[in-house]
Amino acid sequence: MLEVLPLASGSQGNSTLIRSSTTALLIDAGLTRKEMLLRLAHVEQDPGDLAGILLTHRHKDHCRAAATLCRRFKIPLYGTARTVEHQQPRTLPQIREINPGESFDVGDLQIRAHTLSHDAPDTQSFVFESNEGQRIGIATDLGCSQGGVADFLQALDVLLLEFNHDAALLQAGPYPTFLKQRIASDLGHLSNEQAAELLARVMGPRLQTLYLCHLSQHNNDAFLAQEMAEAVTSGLAEQDPRILIARQDRVTEGTSLR
Ligand SMILES: [Zn+2]
Ligand SMILES: [Zn+2]
Repeated sequence: MLEVLPLASGSQGNSTLIRSSTTALLIDAGLTRKEMLLRLAHVEQDPGDLAGILLTHRHKDHCRAAATLCRRFKIPLYGTARTVEHQQPRTLPQIREINPGESFDVGDLQIRAHTLSHDAPDTQSFVFESNEGQRIGIATDLGCSQGGVADFLQALDVLLLEFNHDAALLQAGPYPTFLKQRIASDLGHLSNEQAAELLARVMGPRLQTLYLCHLSQHNNDAFLAQEMAEAVTSGLAEQDPRILIARQDRVTEGTSLR
C-alpha cells in the first residue's frame, strides 16, 4: 500500500504526506505550525507517529514549521546538509542527513533522490517506492526540465509536478522585473508549457493520478494549467490519468495505491 495526500501546495506553503502500511513520512512542512497540525488532523495523522519530516530544499514555503514540529514531537528531520543547516540543527532531536541524488530508506519506503535546477542549493526531487513496487514522484521547485529529471521520473503511478505559471500572465502580471526574471529563469519555476513538455517525456501507461502543483496565485490560472496537462495526457495513455489541482487553501483528495 502506498498513499499520497497533498496537504498544501503553492508559494504560501507546501507539504505532502506519504504513507505506506507501516510508515508515514511528511515531505516539507511549509505552513504555520497551527495550520500544519490542522491539516494533519484532517487526514487523521498523529504527528507523533511520523517517521520524520523530509525537506526538499531550504525555502521557507517548504520548511516554515519543520523544525518546530520535529522538536515538539521528537521526530527526525531528513534533508541534505545544505538544507538542514538552516533549520537550527542544534535544537533538533535527530538529524538524518541525506546525500544529494542518493537513495535512502525510511521505514519500508525506498526513496530515490535527484538534484533539481532551482535557486536553493541541493534542491531535491524524490521518488517513493513501496515494497510492492508502487511509485510516487514529487518534483515541485525546478526552473528547467533538463538535467536528467525526465529520466528520473519514469514509471510512476502518481506524479506531483509543478505547473507554476503561465508565461504570458507572468510577464503581464504585478511582479517587479527582477522577480519575473527569477521565476522564469532556469533556477526558478516551471511554466505550464515547460511542465507539459516534461510531462510528455515522463507519461507512461502506469500513471493513475497527476497533481498539478505549486500553481502561482498571481501568475497562473488553474483552467490554463489543466488544459495544458490534458493536451498531453489525452490519447497518450491506454487509460487517461485523473488530473487534480493541488490546493493551497486546503487538503487535496489523496491517492491510495493498493
Ligand atoms: Zn523553492
Ligand atoms: Zn516552493
